[in-house]
Amino acid sequence: MKEPERKQWVRAARKEWSRTRSVQIDENAKVILRDDGSGYVQCWIWVDGICRNPRCTNALNDNEGWDGFCGSCADKIEARIMNSESELATLYTID
Ligand SMILES: [Zn+2]
Repeated sequence: MKEPERKQWVRAARKEWSRTRSVQIDENAKVILRDDGSGYVQCWIWVDGICRNPRCTNALNDNEGWDGFCGSCADKIEARIMNSESELATLYTID
């Protein structure tokens, strides 16, 4: 692919995706054309942050979590804390 054609694909991709603020397309982005006339234009996708649990892939954009944990993990941690508090309460309960 010649440079003017690559730049044309980059401009077309930017025009199509500029409404989505979380996608960036570099001026020197790679372009791969397919046989059917469509193609891929390399881009960057912004991720605000990910959960600090190494086994979790959730983003931190749900505003439900705390201390670097996503809402789902924060809920699990809270449930564990609640359970251990009720276990402690059971231990110290005198019948
Ligand atoms: Zn998580």
